[in-house]
Amino acid sequence: VKGYEGRKVAVLGLGRSGLATAHALEAGGAEALCWDDGQEARERAEGQGLILHDLNKGNAWEDVSALIVSPGIPHLYPEPNKLIARAMDEGVPVDNDIGLFFRSFADQEWDSFDTLPRIVAVTGSNGKSTTSALIHHVLEHAGKPTQLAGNIGRGVLDIDPAHDGEVVVLELSSYQTDLARSLTPDIAVFTNLSPDHLDRHGGMGGYFAAKRRLFAEGGPDRAVIGVDEAEGSYLAGQLSEGAADDRVIRISVDRKLSGPGWQVFARKGFLSEYRKGRQIGSVDLRAIKGLPGSHNHQNACAAYAVCRSIGLAPKVIEAAFRAFKGLPHRSQLVGEADGVSYVNDSKATNVDSARAALGAFDNIRWIAGGLGKDGGIECLSDALGNVTKAYLIGHSAREFALQLGDVPYEICETMENAVAAAAQDAQSGDTVLLAPAAASFDQYPDFEKRGEDFTRLVQDRLQDM
Ligand code: ADP
Repeated sequence: VKGYEGRKVAVLGLGRSGLATAHALEAGGAEALCWDDGQEARERAEGQGLILHDLNKGNAWEDVSALIVSPGIPHLYPEPNKLIARAMDEGVPVDNDIGLFFRSFADQEWDSFDTLPRIVAVTGSNGKSTTSALIHHVLEHAGKPTQLAGNIGRGVLDIDPAHDGEVVVLELSSYQTDLARSLTPDIAVFTNLSPDHLDRHGGMGGYFAAKRRLFAEGGPDRAVIGVDEAEGSYLAGQLSEGAADDRVIRISVDRKLSGPGWQVFARKGFLSEYRKGRQIGSVDLRAIKGLPGSHNHQNACAAYAVCRSIGLAPKVIEAAFRAFKGLPHRSQLVGEADGVSYVNDSKATNVDSARAALGAFDNIRWIAGGLGKDGGIECLSDALGNVTKAYLIGHSAREFALQLGDVPYEICETMENAVAAAAQDAQSGDTVLLAPAAASFDQYPDFEKRGEDFTRLVQDRLQDM
């Protein structure tokens, strides 16, 4: 990290990204003063030779040049974090690892630009990880040097500084875009917007505002924007200098886009690219196993638009799509037996992602429940047409049961019971789908562990058959 040589920088939150930040600051000649409310985290940091500094102490902010905050720490909502508020009162600039990354990058010298952009940043409510991983995959498949970081894979300060001609693909959550003081990607992507994590952003307006910072004045050279919600449409309109402006590529899985600009849309499994009113590319997405369902077609449109911006040909992108295996825990096929497919979408922690998964398969034996969000699955009532029966687990099982309408259900409590019951009932042509529409924390440390548990139970069962 550049810009803090010989200066003191406070680091709040000593998880993976906090530790990487502290080490990167030290490597850049700064003195990292580390703090975390948890003793275990402090001990881990100390074990790595980092300096602890109690930020609650009276004179804690003397000579501190900046405070770097971890993405896991809510800073303003539901209530202001005391330490962050204090730093702001003392006039200490507050930033995060993403801001540090962009600032260190901005003055990097590039010997040969090789026409490639350097940084692609992806944000949105759902599909960020899939879209980022897909862009990374296509570039790799096409033989372009690339690295993947941010909210997925490695922390931004953990990656090798980018080399000439290399494309860094960053997945950025709204927490990350909200705090970063510098956000200057070359290409920025906004997939979609739905209510999630609203408590931390003070409602929908704050949530949209956090994501929008990626597109601020002087922002990306190219913006790829999902226009199926009013907010995306508004953002695209705001960024366009005129109807034929190439700076914005609009994407949709809802309708055929038209006009003199640049558009990529998918309808009935067929992706089309139009520019200046002419079709210039297409991909048949129905043949692509790793990207099932219209939600994945949205991710495909976004990744396609980015890769076209970088100069790849449609055929090259299509070939890479065909080789894409999908990400773990996102519509991931984990087993097949007797005509029954078992799909792990443990990442469906909110109703919108569950809706996406429910729309991607037929004859669904649906495993759902966990730590439900406000309103439970009430608003999914119109998305249950493909569900043959629900197998409910976790804290929200009974609440969900009351919201299922006519759909038959069974209260299974645990994943083990749910997998056993669903597998028992399933007939050829069915999909046993884990898409909980709820967080995992009532029964698991995280959604990954939940998905692994499901996968293991399925595989054990299939082995015994
Ligand atoms: P994120 O990183 O934004 O959380 P992921 O790619 O990890 O996105 O997908 C999260 C969940 O949302 C998964 O359950 C997945 O099936 C679903 N999903 C993926 N892409 C989309 C999309 N474009 N729209 C709605 N849901 C999606």
